[in-house]
Amino acid sequence: MGVATADAVVIGAGVIGSAVAHALAVSGRSVIVVERNGAPGQGSTSASSAIIRFNYSTFAGVATAWEAHHDWLNWADVLEAPDADRTAGRGTLATFVRTGSLCLDCPTHDPGKVLALFDQVGVPYEIWDAATIRARVPAIDPARYYPPKPVDSEAFWADPEGELGGYHTPDAGFVDDPGLAAQNLAAAARRRGASFRFHTTLTAITTSGGRVSGVDVVCGGVAEHLSAPVVVNVAGPASGRVNALAGVGEDFAVSTRPMRAEVNTVPAPSGYNGPEPGPLVADLDLGTYFRGTLGGELLVGGAEPACDPLHWLDDPDVYEPGPTAELYTAQLYRAARRLPDLTVPNRPVGIGAVYDVADDWIPIYDRTALPGFYVAIGTSGNQFKNAPLAGRYLAAIVDSCESGRDHDTTPVRFALPHSGHEVDLSAFSRRRSLHAGSSFTVMG
Ligand SMILES: Cc1cc2nc3c(=O)[nH]c(=O)nc-3n(C[C@H](O)[C@H](O)[C@H](O)COP(=O)(O)OP(=O)(O)OC[C@H]3O[C@@H](n4cnc5c(N)ncnc54)[C@H](O)[C@@H]3O)c2cc1C
Repeated sequence: MGVATADAVVIGAGVIGSAVAHALAVSGRSVIVVERNGAPGQGSTSASSAIIRFNYSTFAGVATAWEAHHDWLNWADVLEAPDADRTAGRGTLATFVRTGSLCLDCPTHDPGKVLALFDQVGVPYEIWDAATIRARVPAIDPARYYPPKPVDSEAFWADPEGELGGYHTPDAGFVDDPGLAAQNLAAAARRRGASFRFHTTLTAITTSGGRVSGVDVVCGGVAEHLSAPVVVNVAGPASGRVNALAGVGEDFAVSTRPMRAEVNTVPAPSGYNGPEPGPLVADLDLGTYFRGTLGGELLVGGAEPACDPLHWLDDPDVYEPGPTAELYTAQLYRAARRLPDLTVPNRPVGIGAVYDVADDWIPIYDRTALPGFYVAIGTSGNQFKNAPLAGRYLAAIVDSCESGRDHDTTPVRFALPHSGHEVDLSAFSRRRSLHAGSSFTVMG
């Protein structure tokens, strides 16, 4: 068996694994990334709606999303991109598209709490009543339907009860190509000396003297040992399996579980897009979300309404990758109630993909009980936007723990350069009490 040595091994080259690799390399470590696919960003990342919004249920969530949004605005600088990349035009660096975001009122999503967090963090917003919604986005019918109902029930077609408003955050938007964002981070990590092993699958995590000592991998039938004092699990929906290989999980108060989700694509209705894509809309009143695309389409996803079953998976690699009649109908019919001019084509178009869901839909960025073994997992369908910062959070936790700090008892605090706030990273601890104020949906 061949042997290679590094200061750190990262399992997974999704957008967060690539960000972790970049941040660890920037901190001066030699890094090897192990990825079973042939390129970065081909797991959950490539399926991401890549929505950049700021509404979360915790201070740490809002502060992280607001800070990370500045990274997307300054993407070339975050990557330390060469001049050729900066001037190459669309398709070389992922691009943030500012559209604004409208979060519609819903009794289970207390706007008062979110807006108080926006005030605390400094996120600009406006309150829109139904008349303002109609004036600003004529395609939207601001009727109130709460609670969400199964689309095959008669109740779904009942008349609305009054109207609703919402809050608008003008700085929200989306990243045009999430897979490209992962490739950009991987290229940045490589410029800092990291190496990526593609078509390479993790088979074992090795220990010595009570701490991690590296990983065993296989590539094209050839086994290799990668010796490293630090190993980071960023395996996305396969995170539970990787934790099992490391023998950790006993002291996790928060567990993760793979869940299939679907995003459907339809032509955007008239009155939704202007010259630029319309605002992204979080519609917990009906149980859906949607956003525009640069090509004049609408991406429609689900927001886990309590009336619908969740699609938990026993095996994160065994799922339907195309659209299903069940979710296509549910998501599109809900969107069509909100956007009366939306036409729902007979032939479903979309993708099925997998979320790595934490019990309270808040990620786990943490050390573990096995010294040297770290996790960036449980990203719950809502952490693409935070990837660049998640990488730096992990590097800070690794640096502190490897210097002797016990992050469990003396949590690392991370200073956010743009907002000036500080985030106590125990908010993302594996041992936290489940956050009762979470939406327990993709909204986090
Ligand atoms: C349909 C969908 C829509 C989403 N929409 C949004 C959104 O609008 N906004 C937002 O912020 N977030 C969104 N997300 C969430 C976001 O995309 C994820 O949080 C993020 O992409 C996770 O990145 P990752 O690097 O942790 O995981 P992944 O991208 O899944 O990468 C994990 C990698 O690990 C590799 N791997 C696993 N096991 C092994 C092994 N044994 N050996 C080697 N390699 C291994 C996999 O091949 C994979 O490439 C969405 C997710 C989905 C699925």
